[in-house]
Amino acid sequence: HAKRRGGNGYQFFNESMNQSAVRRLKLENQLRQALRDGHVEVHYQPKLALKDRQFVGLEALARLNIPGVGMINPVDFIPLAEETGLIIELGERVLQQACRDMKQWVEQGLVSGRVAVNLSARQFMQPDLSARVTRILNAEGMAPEHLELEITEGVLMEDPERAIEIMTDLQTKGIDLALDDFGTGYSSLAYLKRFPIQTLKIDKAFINDISQAERDRKMVASIIAMAHNLGLHVVAEGVENKDQLTILSTLNCEYAQGFLFAKPLPASELLQRLAIRVVPESTPESA
Ligand code: C2E
Ligand code: MG
Ligand code: MG
Ligand code: MG
Repeated sequence: HAKRRGGNGYQFFNESMNQSAVRRLKLENQLRQALRDGHVEVHYQPKLALKDRQFVGLEALARLNIPGVGMINPVDFIPLAEETGLIIELGERVLQQACRDMKQWVEQGLVSGRVAVNLSARQFMQPDLSARVTRILNAEGMAPEHLELEITEGVLMEDPERAIEIMTDLQTKGIDLALDDFGTGYSSLAYLKRFPIQTLKIDKAFINDISQAERDRKMVASIIAMAHNLGLHVVAEGVENKDQLTILSTLNCEYAQGFLFAKPLPASELLQRLAIRVVPESTPESA
C-alpha cells in the first residue's frame, strides 16, 4: 500500500485505520449536514410511576435522520459530536425542540410532569449555560417547571465547585436535575450528597440481570435505599421485562423507563399512544 501511495506519509496508516478515518469523516459530514438541513430529530421515551403505571414524564433522545441513509442513533454520533464541539449546537437543537413539543403537549393536556433533556459534559460546563437554557425556555414559552436536565457523573468529578454553581443556578430557576447512568462512573452515593440533584437514574447495566443475579439485586436495593435516604427520587433505566419490574417494585423504586413500556418514539407516534390513554376505551363490558 505504501508503494502505491508513492511513499508519502500515508504509509503509516494501515488499511483499517484508514477505513475508520474515512468513516469518521463521513459521519462528521452527515452530522454537519443534519444540523444545517434541520434533520436532527427528537424521539421521546415515556417515564412511568411504578405504583400505578401512569406516565409521569418523558426523556428526549436525539436522532439524525439522514436522507438516503435513515436514522443514526446517538451511540454513533454523540462521541463524535463531543470531540468536534458540534455537541453544543446539537444539544441546543434538542433542547429547543423538546421545549417546543412539551409546551404544546402540556397545553393540550396530553402530558404533565417534565421532559428530560440530556446534556453532555462539554455543554454543561459552558460559562453561560444557565443563560442559554433560559433564552431557549423564553423563546419557546416553556415553563422551567416542565424541564429536567440529565447529566452524568463525569460532569461532577471534573470541577465539582463549578458544577455545584451551575446546578444551583438552574435549580433556582425551577429546573430539575437528574444524574444519568448512575453506577457506571466512579462517584459514591456519599459524594452525591454535595450536589443539588433531585433524581438518580440507575444505569441499565445494573437492571439487566436483576431477576437472575442476587448480587445485582442487592446492589440495586442498596442504591435505591441510600438514594431515598438522601431524599432523591429513583428511576430505573432499561426495564425490559416483567420480572425486573416486579423486583423494582419490591425494592421501592419509584419510576422506570424501558422497552417493556415503550421505546423512544417520534412525536407523532407518542401522541397516538397518549391519545389512547386520554380517550377512554369502550370495552365490551361498558359498551
Ligand atoms: P441515556 O440518556 O442513558 O438514554 C437511555 C438510552 O437507553 C437510550 O438510547 C434509550 O433508547 C435506551 N433504552 C431505553 N430503554 C431501553 C431498554 O429497555 N432496553 C435497551 N436496550 N435500551 C433502552 P439512545 O436513544 O440510543 O441514547 C443513547 C445515549 O446517547 C443516551 O443515554 C445519552 O447519553 C446520549 N444522548 C441521546 N440524546 C442526547 C442528546 O440530545 N444530548 C446528549 N448530550 N446526549 C444524548
Ligand atoms: Mg438520559
Ligand atoms: Mg442513562
Ligand atoms: Mg447514557
